[in-house]
Amino acid sequence: VTASLIRGGWLLTDAATTHVMPDAALVQRDGVITEVGPYGELRARHPDLVELGSPGHLVMPGLVNAHHHGGLSSVMLGCVDGPLELWLSETWARRDADPYLDTLYGCARLLRAGVTTVMHNLVRWIPPGEGVLDRVADEILRAYRDAGMRVAFSVAMREERRIVYEDDERFLAALPASLADALRERLAGGLDGAAYVALCEDLIGRHGKHPRTRILLSPANVHWVSDRWLERIKESAGRHRAGIHMHLAETAYQRTMAERAWRTTPVGHLRDLGFLGPELSCAHAVWLSHADLDVLAAHRVTVCHNPSSNLRLSSGIAPVATMLERGVPVALGVDSAALGDDHDMLQEIRLAAALQSRPGLDTWRLDAGAVLTMATIAGARATGFGDEVGTLSPGRRADVVLIDVEAVADPCRPDPAVPVLELVLRRATPAHVSAVVVDGETVYADGRATRFDEPAVRAELRRAFARPLSAGEAERRAIAQALRPWIRASYTGWPRP
Ligand SMILES: [Zn+2]
Repeated sequence: VTASLIRGGWLLTDAATTHVMPDAALVQRDGVITEVGPYGELRARHPDLVELGSPGHLVMPGLVNAHHHGGLSSVMLGCVDGPLELWLSETWARRDADPYLDTLYGCARLLRAGVTTVMHNLVRWIPPGEGVLDRVADEILRAYRDAGMRVAFSVAMREERRIVYEDDERFLAALPASLADALRERLAGGLDGAAYVALCEDLIGRHGKHPRTRILLSPANVHWVSDRWLERIKESAGRHRAGIHMHLAETAYQRTMAERAWRTTPVGHLRDLGFLGPELSCAHAVWLSHADLDVLAAHRVTVCHNPSSNLRLSSGIAPVATMLERGVPVALGVDSAALGDDHDMLQEIRLAAALQSRPGLDTWRLDAGAVLTMATIAGARATGFGDEVGTLSPGRRADVVLIDVEAVADPCRPDPAVPVLELVLRRATPAHVSAVVVDGETVYADGRATRFDEPAVRAELRRAFARPLSAGEAERRAIAQALRPWIRASYTGWPRP
């Protein structure tokens, strides 16, 4: 079908204005929205169009998960939650997974929660070798293409302070020789700055023109990349008009590290380097000063808020209500670490709102419009699709989610006393997502992805994980375990958050 009419008893055109049209529809042709208006009028004008939706549905813009690392979670791959600084080295103990199957599994979980666009940041450890990273990236992008999702993809770069927040060599020098040697071997496979920028530019050249793909550059965090390469990354992004995505100020320890290294905050250091700009989005941003908020707002930097992950990894609660009051653009991401460990963007929206309900009768809190704006418009901007998706209006791509409002309200009826967006914010789960449309094409309906066989993907993954640990997996687990006390010791005497 190249054209269709998508109808609902409610149609949300724009979360920022919370403009909900009753009994309305949109017409899409070749993936582009051509008309939005009253259902009766559009139906009469286009009697032949295939119809999707019903008077019991909310038609809303597709959700954007603005920070994601892959489909199979760390817990599934053998790594329990802990404070970020300890958890980071634990994640080396994750089992290997086929990147194509991992991504398709993730697509299935994202789609069922109404996500049409995702910011995928590749941080997993990849065995060193010529062209290996390119092939992993190709496989991930092939999966998104096959699933029909929109993706902003980046490979994260780390070149220094890779184990703890101090010089790698200084940390290694204090370790028993055998452990230090094993670690050195692991770290030797990392890309240097020149190879990293070349990789990104190659990915932009080979994938950047695909209409549903954006390639971004990604220094993994301000302390993991040298100033020199931060500058080169910024320059390359500017030359290619690409976005930049990074982690920032995730924990109190990262802020302390910045104060020790640069006598300023992580945001302050990026400002001093001239790195900030509207092309940049930062995940987490939990530990910001008041001045940082104004700096981020002035440079139009987007924060990608990750409430579940921040709770699970003991990072804290980001001051999102204050960010929004100060004019910082805020998007929302699940970080492959949702509260229920299942990429549930609907629950993430609910959690984001609940965490910001500050005490006081007259205190502004995140209402449904604010939190849905984060999950649509702000996310679209952060992923580089800001001109194409995020709202439902003529000229935009038809990325749409249909939510069965009657099922959300059941066994009651949708009550006019409760705005439909409030009802969805408080109660909607993936079970209420009837269909997900990208570029006018139904990519998820009736509980299933339409473009690939999710049960077959699961069966293949089940077979892969039935095998015992490989030698490489076992070795990484042993290293992670041996490292634990050394990593903990390295933070002795640091100020407690
Ligand atoms: Zn992350």
